[in-house]
Amino acid sequence: MVHIVGAGPGDPDLITVKGKRLLSEADVVIYAGSLVNEEILNFCKPEAEIYNSAQMMLEEILHVITLAEKAGKTTVRLHTGDPSIYGATQEQMDAMTERGIEFDVTPGVSSFLAAAAALKREYTVPGITQTVMITRRGGRTPVPDSESLKKLAQHQTTLCIFLSVSLLPEIKQDLMSAGFKSSTPVAVVYKASWPGEEKIIQGRLDTIVQQVSEANIDRTAMIIVGQCLNAKTQQKSNLYSPKFSHMFRQARF
Ligand code: SAH
Repeated sequence: MVHIVGAGPGDPDLITVKGKRLLSEADVVIYAGSLVNEEILNFCKPEAEIYNSAQMMLEEILHVITLAEKAGKTTVRLHTGDPSIYGATQEQMDAMTERGIEFDVTPGVSSFLAAAAALKREYTVPGITQTVMITRRGGRTPVPDSESLKKLAQHQTTLCIFLSVSLLPEIKQDLMSAGFKSSTPVAVVYKASWPGEEKIIQGRLDTIVQQVSEANIDRTAMIIVGQCLNAKTQQKSNLYSPKFSHMFRQARF
């Protein structure tokens, strides 16, 4: 049996209770070493076989899993954040399905959520935006044309941009040409939730490139763009409003 597990964004305490249990029971652990905080491997049993997938190709990962299956062992495939987001998990799941290997998936706290927590911000502020877009800028890995930043940005939602901090100057250009004002708030969170390593940079579209370069951040960072970052709630939510009834509460006016 193979368990695909989200390790969370960095702080070892942010793995789920279920993920931690699966990790502590696994005979074989294959972790995404480029991003998973190795402290989390302290939850493994001392005799667990541990592999760092950063040095492996897909076939090698599948080989380790297949051998473990043949030996009746339990494998955890540990991914950073949540496995469903830029985890390259689909190709692994498809290959396991083809080979008749049984697997399940345990979600994790994605880094875009850890970034909101670091910033102490809500991405869906009433009256400002009710939509969050998760995306990346096309670079070495292309993004479909219909999802270019220029196109997405036209909606002026909250944008969480993964894997792209080295392309910040291009992102700025794209967003400006899509009509974002130079005063649009932008935040960059480096290693969100990592104990002692997290850095938060807050600025505007016209200052952020300089700020991030001065802070020497060129990887493992989340870019967040949108008015949610400095919004004072213009409109209170319906959820806690006395004028609004819902399933659990009657309106009081
Ligand atoms: N599955 C992961 C994302 C993997 S892609 C998730 O759900 O978070 C790797 C990208 O995620 C990085 O380039 C960076 O943009 C982002 N990232 C991962 N961990 C991060 C962290 N702790 N803080 C900020 N960004 C992070």
